[in-house]
Amino acid sequence: MAHHKEERTLVIIKPDGLQRTLVGEIIGRYEKIGLKLVGMKMVKASSEHIDKHYNLDPMWRKNVGEKSIKGYLDKGLTPPSNDPLVIAQIVVDALKKYMSAGPLIAMVWQGGNAVKIVRKITGGTEPLTSDVGTIRGDFVLDSYAMADKDSRAIRNLIHASGSVKEAEDEIAHWFKKEELFNYELINEAILYGIEL
Ligand code: ADP
Ligand code: MG
Repeated sequence: MAHHKEERTLVIIKPDGLQRTLVGEIIGRYEKIGLKLVGMKMVKASSEHIDKHYNLDPMWRKNVGEKSIKGYLDKGLTPPSNDPLVIAQIVVDALKKYMSAGPLIAMVWQGGNAVKIVRKITGGTEPLTSDVGTIRGDFVLDSYAMADKDSRAIRNLIHASGSVKEAEDEIAHWFKKEELFNYELINEAILYGIEL
């Protein structure tokens, strides 16, 4: 089994992150927690590439629909549909438009608990309820209700893989093997070394 410091996750700064000029701020947060950048590129994604990205995990549609419905019910609001798959199709269509609207930055970050640590500092999907101190909680104000009212995707600056398996599939979807780098970072001796 690979050493825990070899866990990798995919992060995408979505087109709104670039437009908000938050690229440096966002990258800085992942750097500062101790993760290592092992791949990065600027891409204008096609709507087919985005469609495929959100269909890599067969369970994702059900999950995104259920999460949205819960987001409404938790606030005492009525969801636009009670069928998670109906909501998911609306979300996928909106995401194809949003994610291919302009250039984005795709990155692979590596380190101990990379997937969960990135999700933690990125914050929950809906900026209205993302924790203060997370990237989404600090820099964006959108909500399910705002997005759905205008039939658009929630603007939340970042995509981050949800599990190690999702990360592996997503990294393969966005990066060729030769675009990812193996190198030592001085920090790693302090983060993982056994000499201390
Ligand atoms: P996350 O990006 O936090 O992993 P999901 O994978 O559940 O969230 O959803 C993917 C993206 O789809 C979200 O980041 C958001 O931009 C958008 N989204 C999710 N649910 C909705 C919704 N109900 N209405 C509009 N956009 C949504
Ligand atoms: Mg997700």
